[in-house]
Amino acid sequence: MSERIVHWIGGKEHDPGESRLGPVYDPALGTRTASVLLADAAEVDAAVAAAAAAFPAWRDTSIAKRQAVLFTFRELLNARRNELAEIITREHGKVLSDALGEIVRGQEVLEFALGFPEVLKGAYTQNASTGVDVHSIRQPIGVAAIVSPFNFPAMVPMWFFPIALAAGNSVVLKPSEKDPSAAVWLARLLAEAGLPDGVFNVLHGDRAAVDGLLAHPDVASVSFVGSTPIARHIYQTAAANGKRVQALGGAKNHMLVLPDADLDLAADAAVNAGFGSAGERCMAISVVVAVEPVADPLIARITERMRGLRTGDGRRGCDMGPLVTREHRDRVAGYLDVAVSDGATVVVDGRDVVADGAPEGFWLGPTLLDKVPTASRVYTDEIFGPVLSVVRVGSYEEAVALINSGAFGNGTAIFTNDGGAARRFQLEVEVGMVGINVPIPVPVAYHSFGGWKESLFGDTKAYGADGFRFFTREKAVTTRWLDPSHGGINLGFPQNT
Ligand code: NAD
Repeated sequence: MSERIVHWIGGKEHDPGESRLGPVYDPALGTRTASVLLADAAEVDAAVAAAAAAFPAWRDTSIAKRQAVLFTFRELLNARRNELAEIITREHGKVLSDALGEIVRGQEVLEFALGFPEVLKGAYTQNASTGVDVHSIRQPIGVAAIVSPFNFPAMVPMWFFPIALAAGNSVVLKPSEKDPSAAVWLARLLAEAGLPDGVFNVLHGDRAAVDGLLAHPDVASVSFVGSTPIARHIYQTAAANGKRVQALGGAKNHMLVLPDADLDLAADAAVNAGFGSAGERCMAISVVVAVEPVADPLIARITERMRGLRTGDGRRGCDMGPLVTREHRDRVAGYLDVAVSDGATVVVDGRDVVADGAPEGFWLGPTLLDKVPTASRVYTDEIFGPVLSVVRVGSYEEAVALINSGAFGNGTAIFTNDGGAARRFQLEVEVGMVGINVPIPVPVAYHSFGGWKESLFGDTKAYGADGFRFFTREKAVTTRWLDPSHGGINLGFPQNT
């Protein structure tokens, strides 16, 4: 019998018995390994009620005690992260080293969050008016809902919950139903670290669970990461319901290669950023914009490197794993037919891959397309798989105009040895995260993460200073200690004296 993955509510497993179920696969085996509960209204209510009940005591817990819990959590995570990496590889498919990488990047945010006493210090103004002092404090907002995508089952939740918890909020995490076990593992570890029951809850589910959270009067904020159509829906619905919301959407990231670039380094970067995690990264490079005459020599170098990649089971030391589900693999592979009919050249066809893994695994090998027309869906859609497109342009200006004409604005990179061009690029490109000779410019934890345009709906990015702003609200306090000279009636608007 396959495993049953249940909710984590109020510090323990929560199984209502009767429930809708979703399938969870091992993508490298191509078999269903577990069923995950899909919440309906009653479970949404139970999770939010547990979080709301736990909030006041956690909010009032001293900074020193909140810090101690999160420090212990960090130590436990450090000691046991291999367990978590195995869970991620089993349900997502990414290779073990990559699963460990996402844990380390999530842990960076945890380490940043541990400095919260410094970040949350308020401001104080003495004698703003005669005998009047003003100070500001930041307070937690309440129950924070987090809705995360399948592609980073540990890192994306960790972009948010360490900061939310450090600031004194309680959390309901709704992980992707495709790989839900990492979230439960993290919840158990938080409990082991001493987090009080109900402060961190995991609610499994699909649209019904998310819409329940968006409508729930006791949910104060929603942090979402996923595809653009859903991000837009989350942003609009949560805002209409009066909630604070940040909704990070999809991406189509371009890597611009100028003729003066080191083509070996650029080819390494394109392969790593295009095919790492089978292209299922919001910061993956999916388009190489080659400023002529670099396209032919660059493609030759990329192709040579692709020949050396091993696609297979992430537990066998391969370079690239399977895609997350059979449907997603078929959808991504379908873009190769579109590419051919739209006039692109298939340089390397990933459908021919011989994978080091079970025959039923959801395999698609690294794929390279050249001369992709920019009107093609292959260029305009987020494919989210191991498909790297090359678009040839005649100049830097043409390249930047192309990048800026796109719907998304998540990440981009320029490869060049020309400092002036790099400087111009960082100023002119309409994208939220820019790499200069860095293909996946995910900012470190103390710089916030987020794109522009259809890659982010809302006013705050994830983590960094924006994270603390999002999970707290500021209060300004004006103080005067009265003495007899303050007496008398005056209905005028208070003015500084
Ligand atoms: P998705 O949008 O399908 O799902 C994300 C979350 O939303 C999941 O928890 C899912 O259960 C829920 N959901 C799905 N349909 C819903 C609906 N109709 N109403 C309410 N909730 C719904 O995304 P995914 O396939 O899990 O993840 C891949 C996508 O996430 C890609 O588009 C990728 O670019 C994006 N992503 C973006 C970032 C970023 O930082 N901008 C980071 C990681 C992933």
